[in-house]
Amino acid sequence: MGVTGYSVNTTRIKSNSGFYLSRKVVVLNMVVMGALLLAVAVLGSSYARCSQTSSQPSEKSRTVTRAAPAFQVAGLQQQAEEEKKASKISILHAPGTRPSSTRPSWSWDHPSPSTAGPLDHSTPSTSAPLDHPSPSTAGPLDHSTPSTSAPLDHPSPSTAGPLDHPSPSTAGPLDHPSPSTAGPLDHPSPSTAGPLDHPTPSTAGPLDHPSPSTAGPLDHPSPSTAGPLDHPSPSTAGPLDHPSLSTAGPLDHSTPSTFEPQLQPSSEPWKHPRLPSDVVPLHYDLELWVHLQPNQVQQSSKVFCGQVNITVKCVSPTTRVLIHSVSLNYKGAKVLGPLPEGLGADREQGPVGQVAVNNLWKFPEMEYLVMELKETLKPGRHYVLQLNFSGFVNQTHRDGLFRNLYSDQGRLRALIASQLEPTFARRIFPCFDEPAMKATFSITIVHHPAYVALSNMPVLVMSERDAKGSKWTVTAFETTPLMSTYITAFVVCDYSYVNGTERGKEVRVWARKDAVAQGGVDFALSIAGPIFSRLEDLLNVSYPLSKTDLIGFPIFNTQAMENWGLITFDDFVLIQEEDDYPERKTIILSTVTHEIAHQWFGNLVTAKWWNDIWLNEGFASYFEYYISKDFDPQIFKFQNEFFYYYFMKDVFSDDHAKKHRTVSTEVKNYTATREINNLFDPYIYKKGSCVIRMMSNFLGENLFFRGLESYLKTFAFSNSDQDDLWNHMQMVLDNQTEVLLPASVKSIMEKWTHQSGFPIITLDVSTGMVNQKPFFHSHDKNQMTPSHNKTWTVPITWMKSGIVQPLVWLDNSSKIFPEMQLSDSEHDWLTLNLNTTGYYMVNYDQLGWKKISLLLEKEPKAIPVTDRIKLFDDAFRLSQHGYIEIETALDLTKYLAKEEEIAVWDTVLHNLLTPKIFANLNNHNIYPLFKKYLLKRLTPMWHIYSTKIRENNLQDDIMVIPTLRSVFETACWLGLEDCLQLSTEMFSKWMNHSETIKNSNLIKYEVMCYAIAMGSDEEWDFLLNAYENGEFKAYRDEIINSLSCSKYPWILYRYMEYALDSDLFASESSKIIESVSATEIGRLVAKEFLIDKWQAVMKKYGQDYLFILAGSIAESISTDSQVKELEQFFGNMLGEDDSITLRTGLQEIMKKNQQNSSKIAQIANWLKENMAD
Ligand SMILES: [Zn+2]
Repeated sequence: MGVTGYSVNTTRIKSNSGFYLSRKVVVLNMVVMGALLLAVAVLGSSYARCSQTSSQPSEKSRTVTRAAPAFQVAGLQQQAEEEKKASKISILHAPGTRPSSTRPSWSWDHPSPSTAGPLDHSTPSTSAPLDHPSPSTAGPLDHSTPSTSAPLDHPSPSTAGPLDHPSPSTAGPLDHPSPSTAGPLDHPSPSTAGPLDHPTPSTAGPLDHPSPSTAGPLDHPSPSTAGPLDHPSPSTAGPLDHPSLSTAGPLDHSTPSTFEPQLQPSSEPWKHPRLPSDVVPLHYDLELWVHLQPNQVQQSSKVFCGQVNITVKCVSPTTRVLIHSVSLNYKGAKVLGPLPEGLGADREQGPVGQVAVNNLWKFPEMEYLVMELKETLKPGRHYVLQLNFSGFVNQTHRDGLFRNLYSDQGRLRALIASQLEPTFARRIFPCFDEPAMKATFSITIVHHPAYVALSNMPVLVMSERDAKGSKWTVTAFETTPLMSTYITAFVVCDYSYVNGTERGKEVRVWARKDAVAQGGVDFALSIAGPIFSRLEDLLNVSYPLSKTDLIGFPIFNTQAMENWGLITFDDFVLIQEEDDYPERKTIILSTVTHEIAHQWFGNLVTAKWWNDIWLNEGFASYFEYYISKDFDPQIFKFQNEFFYYYFMKDVFSDDHAKKHRTVSTEVKNYTATREINNLFDPYIYKKGSCVIRMMSNFLGENLFFRGLESYLKTFAFSNSDQDDLWNHMQMVLDNQTEVLLPASVKSIMEKWTHQSGFPIITLDVSTGMVNQKPFFHSHDKNQMTPSHNKTWTVPITWMKSGIVQPLVWLDNSSKIFPEMQLSDSEHDWLTLNLNTTGYYMVNYDQLGWKKISLLLEKEPKAIPVTDRIKLFDDAFRLSQHGYIEIETALDLTKYLAKEEEIAVWDTVLHNLLTPKIFANLNNHNIYPLFKKYLLKRLTPMWHIYSTKIRENNLQDDIMVIPTLRSVFETACWLGLEDCLQLSTEMFSKWMNHSETIKNSNLIKYEVMCYAIAMGSDEEWDFLLNAYENGEFKAYRDEIINSLSCSKYPWILYRYMEYALDSDLFASESSKIIESVSATEIGRLVAKEFLIDKWQAVMKKYGQDYLFILAGSIAESISTDSQVKELEQFFGNMLGEDDSITLRTGLQEIMKKNQQNSSKIAQIANWLKENMAD
C-alpha cells in the first residue's frame, strides 16, 4: 500500500512573537500537556459521547437536502467539497497511518470538525446500515430487500433450501423457524430478477470459466500446495486459541451459554481467526453490478450486487465451507459439483451434480460466512460455490467499494472504486480473503453505459443487458493470473485518460477530464512506462500483465494502492496542478515508483501473512528510492541524502532497544482489521527499506539483484516469507567466491528484522577496539537486564584519512581492528558508516571526536554530506541520552561558517534549537549567545539562499525543499536584518499585487509571520483579508499562526475577539487564542483577554480548552511561584477538582523545564567560551 518515503515534514511549523524570543512549538505543547490532557480525557469522556451525538446531520446538510433542485446541485457540489475536506481529515488523523499520511499539511484544507457533519448523515454508523439495505434506495437491486437478508443472520429451517429438515446435530442455528422468510437458497424469482438473472456469456455458468487445469496462470505452483495449508489447522489448535465463549458462535443469537460448552473447539472452525484448509480457492467468476447513474449520482451510488462462482478444490473431507464475508447480504447459495475430473473438464462433459446446502449463516465476529452442506466434499475434487449477494457502497470511508463525489467540467459527478488492502475484499464479494489464498479471477462489471469500467485485466468483451427497461453495459475482463484477493480492483467512472505503450504493453493514466485536459497526468504517464522497463531490466523478471492503468481519485484515504494492473492514487500524488509546488513532481515520481515496484513485490510474490508485510512495503520503498534517482538528476545527485532524509531519519530517530516494534513480527492470527492496519507503519516501510539497502550494500548490487531474481522467479504467483528471501540471497552467494560473509544471510539479517532498535558502534581510535551496545533512551538504561543485551552482526563501512577502506564485520560484542588505530598526526582521521548505509549509530572516543571536529574546521567536504548530517544527528542524540557530553556535539558546530549544504544546517538547527531550548530561553538568557554564535556562521549560508530567493531560483534543488524553512526561520528569529527585510519585501510585493508569494511556497509561513511582526495593522488587515477571501486555502493554519506574530497587544487582543465573536474562522477559531498565548507578547495579552472573557471562551470552546490554554501559557514556567500564580489565575475559571488537575499538569511542566535547565546552562557556558572562535 502506498506511502511514499518522500514527504515534507510539517511538524516544524512554529509561530514566533514579534520580538523573536518565543516560539510556539506545537509538539512541545502536546508533550508537556500530557498530564493535563490525561485528566481532561477522563473529564472529557462525556464530551466524547456528546461529540458522537453531534455527528448527526448538521443543519447545513439538512438545508441542502431540502433545497430546490436548482440549488441542490450547488449544495451537492458544496457537499462534494466538504466530503473532500472530511476525507482529508481522516487522512491527517488516520491511526497508525502509514507514514504517508505525512503528506504536506499545507497542501490540504485543514481539519475542520464542523465540515465532517454533513457527510455523516448518509450513514450515521458505518456498519449498521450495511446490514439493512433500504428498498427505496436499492434501484436495480430490488431483490435484496431486508427481508431476504435478515434470515441469514439468524439461520432458520426455511432458509435451508433443499434441505428443509434440520438434523438434530445442527440444532442451534436452526431453532428459529421463520416460515415467512424466503431463504437464501431459493432461486431468485422472476419478479425480483434483477441483474443476477442475466448472466453474460462470459460469466454464465459456473463451469464457463477457463478450466484451472488448462488455463495459463494455473501452470504456476498449485494453490493447493501453497500458503493456505501452512496456517494452523483448526482441528489441531488448542482451545485457548479460540475467542472466549462469551463472544463466540452462531449460537449467540439464541442462548450461547446453553450450547457452547457442548461444542468441541475443533468443531467450531468459525471461531478460529484463520480460514480452515479444507477447501482452497482456484478461480473466481465474479460479477459486480454497480448501479451508479449520472443523473442521480447520490441515490444510485449506495448499493451494489453481485454473483460469484468460486471454483474450489477440496483438500480434506468436510461438510462445511467457511469463507470471508462482511456486510454482505445473500440471496442464494449453491454448491455445484464435484466437477468432472481430468483435463478439459467443462460443461460439455455432462451435467454437474449439486451438493445441497443445509444452512447458510454468518459469524460476524470472525467475518465468516458458513455453508453447512448435506454431503461431505470429496478430497481432490473441485466444486463451485455459487453465491448471490448485495452490499453497500461506502459513502464516508474509502474502503471496500466506495463512492467519490466530485466536480468535473462544471458538473457534479460520482465514481465508484475499490480499496481492498488489507481485508476489505470481503466487503465486496465473499472470498477466501487471506493473502496466500491466491486464485485466478474472471471479473465482470455491469454499469451504466455513461461510465467506463476498469479492473485488473484488459477488457475481454463488452455487451449490453436489459433490466427493467434500462440498458446496462456489461464489461467482462480477461482472466487474471494467480493473485491475492486484496489486489483485485474495480472502478466505474466517467474519466478520460492519456495512454502510451511500453514494450508492447499499454499504460493509461486516468483522471478527471479537467485534469487530463490540462495535462495534469502527462508527467505520470511519461515516467510510468520507463519505470516498468527499468524494474524489468534490474530484476530480469517481466511484468506479467498486458496492461496497466493508473487512476487518481479526488478523495482517497490511502495515498495509493498497488492493485495489479489497476493502480489507484489520491489525486494529490498523481496529478500535477497548474499552481504547483516545486516538489510535486518528486512526490508523483516517488509514489508511482513505489506502486509499480509492488507489481513485483507484493503482487507477483506476496508475503504469506501480514507479519512479513515488510517484504512488500520495504522493497516497494527501497525501489522508490533506487528507481527515482534514475529519473531525477537532483535525486541522483543527492541520492544518499535523499534516502537518509526521507527513508531513514524519522524511523531511526524513533527507534530504540525497548521499542515494541520490529520489521518482521511474529506470525499472529490477527482478529481485527485494525490490528493488521496497525502493521502499516514506518517500521515496515522505512526501516524495512533501510535494512534492504544495508543488505544490498554488503552483498553488492550484482549479487543483490541476482538474489532477488531468483527469489521472484521461484515464488512468482505464489507467496513467501522472509526466510525464502534469505535463502535465495544465500544461494547466489554460495555460487561465487568474491563476497564472503561472517555468517549466513539469514543469521545476519534476522537480527535486523527481528530485533527492535539498533546498536551504537563505538570506536576507540587509540586501540582500534570497536564495540556494540543496543541504544537505549536514558530513562530506560536503568531497566536494562541481560536479556536486553542483544547484539547484531554489523557491516562496518569506513573511511580513513579520506580513503575508503574495505568493509569489516563486527560479529561479536567487541573486536579489535588494528587498522582502525589512529596516530596523533592531524592528517589522520576516520569515520564509520560511510554514506550512512548502516542502520546504526556511531560513537567515538574523545580523540576520535576531536579529530573529526578538527577535520570539519579544516576540510569539511572530506566527509560526505550525508555523513555530516548523520554525524550531527548521532552526536546530539548520544548526548541527549547521556552517552557523550553535549560539549562534544557542540564542538562539531564550530566549522559551520564553512558549511554550504543547507541540509546539514537544517540538521544542526533542529538538534540545537529544540523546543526545550525555547522553553528555557527566558531563564538562561541564552538567546543573545545563540544570536552571536549562530549568526556569524549562518550569514554566509543566508546570503547564498537569500539571493536564490530574490531571484526566484529555488526550485531545482531537492534538498532545499525540506531544509530551507529552518534556515530562513532561524535567520529571522535571530534578528538578521536582511531576513526581516526580505520578509517585508516579499509581503509588500504581494500587497501591491506586483507579485504573489506563491513562488515562495517553501517559506510562505515565515514570510507572513515576520512581515506581520515587522509591520503594522495594515499588513495584518491585508492578511486577514486574504484569509477571508479564501486565498491560499491550503495555508489556513499558517495564516492563523502568522496573524498571531504581531507585536502589537491591541492587534492581538482584537484578533482573539474576532475569534470569539465572529464566524469568520469557523473551526479554526479555537486555534487562535492558543496561538496568541504561545507567543512572548501574546501570553500576557491572552491572560488579560481570559480575565475579561473567560466565560465566553468556555461557552464557545468548552472547559477543557482552558487546560490547553494553560499549557500554552505555562510553556516556560520553572518556579513554584509561577505555578501558583497560574493556578490562582485559572482557579477562578475552573472548579476545585479541575484546579488540582491543573496544578499537577503545571508542576509537570515546571519539573521538565527544571530538568532541562542544567543542560541549557551547559550550552550557554559552552557558547560563552567558544564565542570568539
Ligand atoms: Zn506500498
